[in-house]
Amino acid sequence: MRRSRAFIPTTKEAPSDASLASHIFLARAGFISQVSSGLYNYMPLAKRVIKKIENVINQEMERIHAQEVELSFVTPAELWQESGRIEKFGKELLRFRDRKENLFVLGPTHEEMMVDLVRNRITSYKQLPLNLYQIKTKFRDEARPRFGLMRGREFIMKDGYSFHASAQDMDREFDTVEEAYKKILTRLGLDFRIVEADSGAIGGSGSKELMVLANSGEDTIAVCDSCEYGANIEAAKRSSRANLPDAPTAEFDKFKTPDVKSIEDLAEFFKVDPYYTVKCVAKRVIYEEDSEIVLFFLRGCDTLQEVKALNATGGLDLVDVEEEELRSLGLIPGFMGPLDQDKAKHVIDNDLKGAKNLICGANELDYHFVGVDMSVMAEAYYMDIAQVNEGDICPYCSGKLSFTKGIEVGHIFKLGTTYSAALKAEFLDENGKAQPFVMGTYGMGVSRLVAAIIEQHHDENGCIWTKESAPYLVNIMISNIKDEEQNSVGEALYEQLMASDVDVVLDDRKERFGFKMKDAELIGFPYTVIIGKELENNQVQIYDRATGEKSAVDKDEIYAQIMERVRS
Ligand code: ATP
Ligand code: MG
Repeated sequence: MRRSRAFIPTTKEAPSDASLASHIFLARAGFISQVSSGLYNYMPLAKRVIKKIENVINQEMERIHAQEVELSFVTPAELWQESGRIEKFGKELLRFRDRKENLFVLGPTHEEMMVDLVRNRITSYKQLPLNLYQIKTKFRDEARPRFGLMRGREFIMKDGYSFHASAQDMDREFDTVEEAYKKILTRLGLDFRIVEADSGAIGGSGSKELMVLANSGEDTIAVCDSCEYGANIEAAKRSSRANLPDAPTAEFDKFKTPDVKSIEDLAEFFKVDPYYTVKCVAKRVIYEEDSEIVLFFLRGCDTLQEVKALNATGGLDLVDVEEEELRSLGLIPGFMGPLDQDKAKHVIDNDLKGAKNLICGANELDYHFVGVDMSVMAEAYYMDIAQVNEGDICPYCSGKLSFTKGIEVGHIFKLGTTYSAALKAEFLDENGKAQPFVMGTYGMGVSRLVAAIIEQHHDENGCIWTKESAPYLVNIMISNIKDEEQNSVGEALYEQLMASDVDVVLDDRKERFGFKMKDAELIGFPYTVIIGKELENNQVQIYDRATGEKSAVDKDEIYAQIMERVRS
């Protein structure tokens, strides 16, 4: 592409709401332009990056025998009613009626559509397994679209779905797709980690997320310092503590604790480790139809993990409870403890199972119980509801957990038969018996990847594209457009590189050299060939955007040198 003909509207102005580097640089360098909240136009450079990513995905999918399809973006609401997701997805689903009053939904993901495509077409175990995918615009009316392409309302996803005759075969495919996804992210030049995830509303027997490591990531992941274990904090597990602090010794009793309301004050008052105190968190759990107050009990040193709490209760959301409501139940803020179980549901963290020597609220102003033994609550409902802490012990080895930030660019699920059973998509097994398909589903955020690459690869001057993702690999910079010699060397190299299928831009604009260099930095071409004054000595320069190195090269060597870098 000749830069003089290109539509690459770079600017000094960053969008006023942009805080992330990817948002700022993709907008400033003329990749994207915002239309409305969470809606973006892709300009030519972004379109090229997206195609590069798609190309890598398509190649790796081909290798694992997954086939590309493209399903309608507009999806009939009946399918969403059949699966029951029309309510679960709530306001993220954009619904509308056509001129005949038929209700439709803009596809936020395509499980129902894909099951509908396959049902009655694949009818025998002999036709399985099958893996179909598409790369397609999705629409989710996100509550808080933000960070540019990172969380849009309209975005591009690669969504894949596999169909199997058995759970074992689905497990095998899940591993195959995981390997393919690793190759895709490795080829794109990303530093990432695959972590155990919460399966959330989609359900199923297990899921993993692909996290691109970046400080700006919205997700916190817990990683072990000595084995491969990594998990989203929403799902992270731990072993129970090995070296326990000294336990307080007291007979069960009620104790006056004037004005001792917080865990810190309580630990200080009794001179015990917060490990031996009990924290009671009251939340209103919102369900599809109604809601209720639930009391969550944890060790004082732990905090409630809200996603785990939702999984434990089957709720859709957790909200705080007004003090007045607590009092009407008999709970005194600062001194809350277990109630009669018919007054409110109690959920107790697994780590408190069988615990003794505890201190907890007495539901009376200025009083706590000491010497509490959890076995008195034998009937209680124990679940893993605590968030792991940094320094906790890995569930698989004796290593320690630490936290890091990640951007979720992919999520793969062992789905099972949830959708095939709901939509009655069945095949005949070896014994001629009808069975619902066992399914896996595999999402990858294509437009989010564009942002994730820049979050991981940028500096204060702009984008630094990796080789497989760069919109153009080489930028040929003619310093002085009026210099005939510079022009002819630049033009000749441009022709040569194009003939070799290298994605190349020729910066033939009549602008100052400094301005053009800044522009090249902002856009982030991996290599810029600078044809300037040194040409008098038969020398040109190759500038490497990632390392910042400039190397002088003989003008007759330049094609070979560039090809070597591009192909390596
Ligand atoms: P998140 O927790 O970030 O909202 P999700 O769990 O809703 O993601 P999935 O339903 O698993 O996401 O979708 C698969 C992939 O699609 C995600 O891993 C992510 O890369 C991408 N994705 C999801 N929502 C968005 C969005 N609003 N904008 C851009 N990409 C998205
Ligand atoms: Mg989401």
